[in-house]
Amino acid sequence: MRQRTYLSPTLRDVPADAEVKSHQLMLRAGFIRQTASGIYSYLPLGKKVLRKVEEVIREEMDLAGGQEVLMPAIQPAELWQESGRLGAYGPELMRLKDRHDRDFVLGATHEEVITSLVRDDVKSYKKLPLNVYQIQTKYRDERRPRFGVLRSREFIMKDAYSFDTTREGLDESYQSMYDAYQSIFTRFQLDFRAVEADSGAIGGTDTHEFMVLSEIGEDTIAYSNESDFAANIEIAPVIVKYTASNEAKAELERLETPNTKTISEVTSFLNINAEKTIKSLLYIVDEQPVLVLVRGDHDVNEIKVSNAFDKAIVQLATPEETERFLGCQPGYVGPVKLSDDITVIADHAVEAIVNGVCGANVKDYHFVNVNVDRDFSVSKYTDLRMIQEGDPSPDGKGTIQFAMGIEVGHVFKLGTKYSEALGATFLNELGKSEPMIMGCYGIGVSRTVAAIVEQHHDENGMVWPTSVAPFDLHLVTINVKDEDQKRVGEELYASLKGLKYDVLFDDRPERAGVKFKDSDLIGLPIRIGVGKKASEGIVEVKVRKTGEMLEVALDDLEETLT
Ligand code: ATP
Ligand code: MG
Ligand code: MG
Ligand code: MG
Repeated sequence: MRQRTYLSPTLRDVPADAEVKSHQLMLRAGFIRQTASGIYSYLPLGKKVLRKVEEVIREEMDLAGGQEVLMPAIQPAELWQESGRLGAYGPELMRLKDRHDRDFVLGATHEEVITSLVRDDVKSYKKLPLNVYQIQTKYRDERRPRFGVLRSREFIMKDAYSFDTTREGLDESYQSMYDAYQSIFTRFQLDFRAVEADSGAIGGTDTHEFMVLSEIGEDTIAYSNESDFAANIEIAPVIVKYTASNEAKAELERLETPNTKTISEVTSFLNINAEKTIKSLLYIVDEQPVLVLVRGDHDVNEIKVSNAFDKAIVQLATPEETERFLGCQPGYVGPVKLSDDITVIADHAVEAIVNGVCGANVKDYHFVNVNVDRDFSVSKYTDLRMIQEGDPSPDGKGTIQFAMGIEVGHVFKLGTKYSEALGATFLNELGKSEPMIMGCYGIGVSRTVAAIVEQHHDENGMVWPTSVAPFDLHLVTINVKDEDQKRVGEELYASLKGLKYDVLFDDRPERAGVKFKDSDLIGLPIRIGVGKKASEGIVEVKVRKTGEMLEVALDDLEETLT
């Protein structure tokens, strides 16, 4: 590809609104441009990387038995009504109407569409198990789109869905996707961890997130330095059990006597029945143990940065959850006795009580005049706390470390949530109808591109791993006005292409300094500089990653490159 006419405009300065390195570099090197807030266009270099990332994912999905499909971005709202998510998904779901006033949504995910497809076309156990995937555009009206394509409102996702006849089958499908994800992120040369995660709004129980370790990650991971234990801190309060003081442990034991609901019973109750809350914290309110429920989906970042856990009670549940779980009216604000020992503060709206202010995310659902120290006391069991760095790991191996992570992938065991809601059943060997058992598996394709840049750059620009570099080689004629350089550059371009290298050829009439700067910024693995020694048949080869430079005779170039 000739760079003179290639749409790869580079920028000298860091764009003002780009906070993180990947966003800055993708803009500066001409990979992406913002079209609207959280909505991006990919220029040729960006598109090439996307394609490479997609190809690796495709290869591994195909290897794991996945069948590629393509589903529509526009989905009838009725399908979301059927699954019960039309309201539950909230304002992130983009909605639209057609000319006949019919309701549609822009797909934020595709459980509904795939389940209805399979429902209509797969009827017998003989056609199962099935694993289908697509690489497709998703829409989520994120409250805070940011960091470029790391959190955008339109983005590319690989989403896969498995359908099995038994739980064991699902376990196998899940494991094979988990293994495929390990291979995929390894091939991108990412430093990542698979962590236990919160099942969130999508429902389901068993779930792992694939986290790329990075300071700018929005999730905190608690992991052991000596074992495979790793969990999103969102579920860490469940782990708190292991780090409680003796006094608090005694309290827990007292709670875990028959006839009372234990923390694990309550969380499992919620997982199974409310399919949402996984977090719980024990606090003491008015000398009574109070189980505080914390949900993971939104505003968790704000809660974290405010150190709310030190002195605040944080809880959240949907009105439906409140009603089903506590048997009280939605919107009820106040304590509910769950058992003799556990009181729950019931209010679906309360998010955080910080500095004496009790916030709510729904209009008209506020605690009024709440004062933390007066109305709530959390001092008695302060050792019963969030897991911290240096704590022993829950599996007994090693100690806990913290790291920040970017969620690039997520695997879920969904069970029968969607197959039951949408009627995706099959006839078993005895001719009896059963709901299919599902899993779903996502990878943020565009987010992964940015995550790779976060981990692979230096002060001069991007440093692409060969597996996803937009081109194999950057061939740079340093001075195109010099006849020898021009000739050697053109000849090399032709012969390297003949050798099946994908070459970006800088044939621009620019100064050497500009060309080298741009070349470092774009960060292809190898640069071949055709300069003053071209007349002697010598070129300069630079390895982007190490900075290593060597002069190579044209005759030896092919061998040097391999
Ligand atoms: P997050 O916690 O970052 O909001 P999520 O848990 O809502 O992500 P999933 O529903 O698990 O996302 O979707 C699967 C994958 O899609 C995620 O693991 C992530 O890599 C990617 N993804 C989700 N939201 C975005 C977004 N707004 N922009 C880019 N990629 C995204
Ligand atoms: Mg999200
Ligand atoms: Mg998430
Ligand atoms: Mg997720």
